[in-house]
Amino acid sequence: MSFIFWQSLKTAEFAEIDKKDTVIIYPLAAIEQHGPHLPISTDFDIMQAMLSHYKRHFSSNYDVISLPIQQIGYSVEHSKYAGSLSLSPDLLYQICKSISEQVIAYGFNKIIFMSSHGGNSEVAALLSRQLRCEFGILTASTNWLRFLQNYQPKPMDDNNLPFEHDIHGGFAETSLMLYFYEHLVTKENIDAFEINDALIKQRGVSISRPMPIGWAIEDLNEKGVVGRADLANKNFGLQIADHIIDEFTNFIDHFQNSNI
Ligand SMILES: [Zn+2]
Repeated sequence: MSFIFWQSLKTAEFAEIDKKDTVIIYPLAAIEQHGPHLPISTDFDIMQAMLSHYKRHFSSNYDVISLPIQQIGYSVEHSKYAGSLSLSPDLLYQICKSISEQVIAYGFNKIIFMSSHGGNSEVAALLSRQLRCEFGILTASTNWLRFLQNYQPKPMDDNNLPFEHDIHGGFAETSLMLYFYEHLVTKENIDAFEINDALIKQRGVSISRPMPIGWAIEDLNEKGVVGRADLANKNFGLQIADHIIDEFTNFIDHFQNSNI
């Protein structure tokens, strides 16, 4: 069984695919500022790299097909910083719905929306539920970095909590970029990029649950980055990528075996 990109298939090959048991990944990236140390392409770069990493480690009893990456996502919270490009949430929803409907019309009935940018998650979750109810297919929406919950890379001092408030361009993303694309990282600009509590207080926003108060990234840190990029390195990047792919493989097994 294989993992393949939709656009690599030949049209005649679609007739041979067991569409009922094939899992479709719909990758949603973003083109948005990632601070002074990472390129605007970071979420797109990470998406491409993670899909390739998954392909290299692929082992499964069923086929998985990735659709072409939706390169521009919903990034309004980064719009104060030059270079960020964003679709409106309704346009992103409509694009993804239109493509999904065509995929469903070919006979596929299992779709996972995978984001490399947190801001796409709400749109993906809405669409996921809509497709589930409108077409009766199996859908899920997630984000690569969600698989890092409760994960602690090694060796790391127990006093360091690298994933605490690792919101944007911080420990995880910088480690992944150092592992996959070291030449794209401006290392001398890496910093601790901690949440600016005084700024949060002054502006009255909040990231705390259960009642977060709507924030834009500049409300949390003036540099538009939140997370301990200073703790990042290549080795952690490889560990993080491997851990995510292990967890994702387990998730996709469970998803594939679900019945609707
Ligand atoms: Zn990012």
